[in-house]
Amino acid sequence: VPLLELDGVSHAYARTPALREVSLTVAPGEVVAVTGSSGSGKSTLLHVAAGLLRPQAGRVHLLGHDLAGVDATARAVLRRSEIGIVLQYVQLVPDLPVLDNVALPLTLNGSSLAAARTAAADALAEVGLTDAASAAPAELSGGQAQRAAVARALITSPRIVFADEPVASLDPVGGRQVLDLLRGVTARGAALVLITHDNTVAALADREVRLRQGSVEHEAVLR
Ligand code: ADP
Ligand code: ADP
Repeated sequence: VPLLELDGVSHAYARTPALREVSLTVAPGEVVAVTGSSGSGKSTLLHVAAGLLRPQAGRVHLLGHDLAGVDATARAVLRRSEIGIVLQYVQLVPDLPVLDNVALPLTLNGSSLAAARTAAADALAEVGLTDAASAAPAELSGGQAQRAAVARALITSPRIVFADEPVASLDPVGGRQVLDLLRGVTARGAALVLITHDNTVAALADREVRLRQGSVEHEAVLR
């Protein structure tokens, strides 16, 4: 059973078509790169797939749910508990220490602060940021901040992770660390959907889906 299935998804903003009859599936344990030049529809695809945007046509099945029948509240719960999202520019809460930023998804899901902080400390250790636990987000380097964002996205053990240009603002070493951490989710059967315009990043995926003007132009199995 795929974790994600898009079937004939189309969407336009006002008169601008952004997705045209896009179909794709993502299986457990898979890393899928969604590529294409700027304006090809990658971000729109991510918003639709993650339940942030309801497409004008087509079906989206995410983690066993047909999103057409899932209301906004239930979609938000699904995102908080079973989906991880990492964006190019980290959005850590500036007023919270790194530890509490990473703990946030668990406290939002109802964990006690103590339990959430214990889990966040473990998550920070996994991304090599134990020493930064009490730092403010502004004190982190770009690569450290992105690793903290990855720790926060993964702390709920999501079944699927969406990453939109997660290393575009990092140097090659920091980028490689972040990609390795993201790929790590496949070891427990989760999937990674990696949105990127960078061919060297896309080459790390199992499969590439290339968009052009909102349509799937090309699909390739890479490994
Ligand atoms: P990508 O992520 O590949 O750059 P997008 O999904 O952001 O592509 O954009 C696809 C198309 O939709 C582009 O033509 C873009 O200009 C347009 N678009 C994206 N977001 C909006 C929006 N909020 N309002 C109007 N047009 C948009
Ligand atoms: P409901 O499920 O409550 O009827 P809709 O799914 O119709 O709400 O959402 C109304 C509009 O807001 C849709 O265009 C949808 O894509 C958009 N939308 C819903 N949730 C979000 C969200 N979290 N972020 C951005 N847009 C959203």
